[in-house]
Amino acid sequence: MDYPDHFDVIVIGGGHAGTEAALASARMGANTLLLTHNIETLGQMSCNPAIGGIGKSHLVKEIDALDGAMARATDRGGIQFRVLNARKGPAVRATRAQADRILYKATIREILENQANLQIFQQAADDLMIEGEQVVGVVTQSGIRFRAQKVILTAGTFLGGVIHIGMEQHSGGRAGDPPALRLAQRLRELPLRVERLKTGTPPRIDARSVDFSVMQVQPGDTPTPVMSFMGSRAEHPQQINCFITHTNAQTHDIIRTGLDRSPMFTGVIGGVGPRYCPSIEDKIHRFADKDQHQIFVEPEGLTTHELYPNGISTSLPFDIQLALVRSMRGFENAHITRPGYAIEYDYFNPQDLKHTLETKSISGLFFAGQINGTTGYEEAGAQGLLAGINAAAQALGREGWYPRRDEAYIGVMIDDLITHGTSEPYRMFTSRAEYRLLLREDNADLRLTEQGRKLGIVGDERWAAFCAKREAIELEAQRLKETWIQPGSAEAAKLADKLTSPMSREYSLADLIKRPELGYADVADLKGEPVDHEQAAEQVEIQLKYSGYIDRQKDEIAQMQRQENTPLPADFDYDAVGGLSNELKSKLKEHQPETLAQASRIQGMTPAAISLLLVYLKKRQ
Ligand code: FAD
Repeated sequence: MDYPDHFDVIVIGGGHAGTEAALASARMGANTLLLTHNIETLGQMSCNPAIGGIGKSHLVKEIDALDGAMARATDRGGIQFRVLNARKGPAVRATRAQADRILYKATIREILENQANLQIFQQAADDLMIEGEQVVGVVTQSGIRFRAQKVILTAGTFLGGVIHIGMEQHSGGRAGDPPALRLAQRLRELPLRVERLKTGTPPRIDARSVDFSVMQVQPGDTPTPVMSFMGSRAEHPQQINCFITHTNAQTHDIIRTGLDRSPMFTGVIGGVGPRYCPSIEDKIHRFADKDQHQIFVEPEGLTTHELYPNGISTSLPFDIQLALVRSMRGFENAHITRPGYAIEYDYFNPQDLKHTLETKSISGLFFAGQINGTTGYEEAGAQGLLAGINAAAQALGREGWYPRRDEAYIGVMIDDLITHGTSEPYRMFTSRAEYRLLLREDNADLRLTEQGRKLGIVGDERWAAFCAKREAIELEAQRLKETWIQPGSAEAAKLADKLTSPMSREYSLADLIKRPELGYADVADLKGEPVDHEQAAEQVEIQLKYSGYIDRQKDEIAQMQRQENTPLPADFDYDAVGGLSNELKSKLKEHQPETLAQASRIQGMTPAAISLLLVYLKKRQ
């Protein structure tokens, strides 16, 4: 049947990309339908119930700055919070939370169900309706035809999904869920480049069968970090500990005895796996000289006994899984509740997408999440948000948006994917961002919330809180710059013990904060009242302490911006550019960069080649 209502945007898939996409599209004001296999699995965490971590927390906070759901759900579901790299500079600091997967999922569902302009429908999408080169809707498993102006596909690991445990294999989207086979088949008929990737997950363990007394305890941080700019510690549920154990020589021997039945080592799995999240069999092979690997033992929630042993992702046969688990300290009597497995799935070459995540070949069809070759909830959520914004903007006849590399990690990820593609699951790292001193997790709101408000996706509550924070930062920075401390004064005496060299002249409070041995907390109350806003105080401190580096990075960005504003016409004849190597010519023809800056980021591109392009462009004018 033809469904009577027409939608502006249909999102296929209710995972991390799909939920952010649907929410963003609806917040933009577009009449949106979220079509997913199962309403009970909205926001389901397929693997470890943890959000954030190095590079990834930057994405979560950027999603949050644009009023997305991930950080808010983390604050309401997080059972252990830590700041990684806390002793390093603010650019690489990263908040990570272990979540109760049930609480997390429930929060995502609640947010979805209370979002205006958003309808949810449970059923598999089996086909896309395409007229000419334009998508016009979706056909479900039972033949319901939903029409829409734009469609966002976020099918995760489900397209042509094959699950492997030892030499056994079966079709599946992830354990317990059906694969999307018909849709995968249909997509393979479209002019899109499809490849296979794989990922894996560890066996889960019943906590009642584990001896925690012989494991190292890993508590969360105090005071407890908060993920959302709008969040608070008061929202957090009960906080609990994680634990640490290790593999050992016996574990490694057991794994080796199973390699002849490993789908990875016998060539049954062809897809490439995540390099930075390898299986335990891969680790034993690649780091043969290491006699142990650290395993984080992480609870899956407050109302379940299931544990996630982070570090032993595996697709070895079940008998080997059980033996390797039981060879570890504290796991001698462990009961496995779910076997580990690997999954192979279809992904599409992201070079076939525009920066808005719309496919180049089918107008109105957007791709987001794992299907673009990424791995991780955060990477998926960030893409979903962007696709949601742009699909809705197009449907409503408004201007779309995507951030540049100097504005957001989302911009870095999209540009990396579209410019270089990926042949292995792509995950975010701080090292991927060239302007990481500016793209910190702590200032994601200052970078993006105003833009989000202009787009119409930032609600009144967040906007009011943001404006108050921004004003508090400005006023406090002003106060610190205008408040002076004289040498020999009572205030200076209070600092004497902390100073590495005595105060030889008058200092403003701002100047004092810039000294390495002092921080905001040491000086803010020497004269006058410190700001009563935790985030504003942190921001003022970071902005003052790193002002020299930050200014230098801003200069670099201004220089790059000039290249970013230099468009390369679509009909640019690279063969006519004298002095350009054939290899670079063919790369430029393949990538079709839209600007000089995009061209400069193509692998192997040299500054000399960019100068040649510039000279040629000037001659053309
Ligand atoms: P998903 O979360 O997979 O969501 C896809 C959604 O689309 C689901 O709700 C599904 O039901 C729905 N759907 C699919 N097809 C259709 C259809 N035809 N019709 C209707 N609905 C459909 N990430 C890491 O960072 N590290 C890891 O170690 C890691 N290990 C993993 C191990 C396993 C076994 C799996 C399955 C995933 C793992 N991940 C890991 C990846 C992580 O789960 C994904 O990156 C993330 O969930 C991707 O989000 P997504 O929204 O793109 O897709």
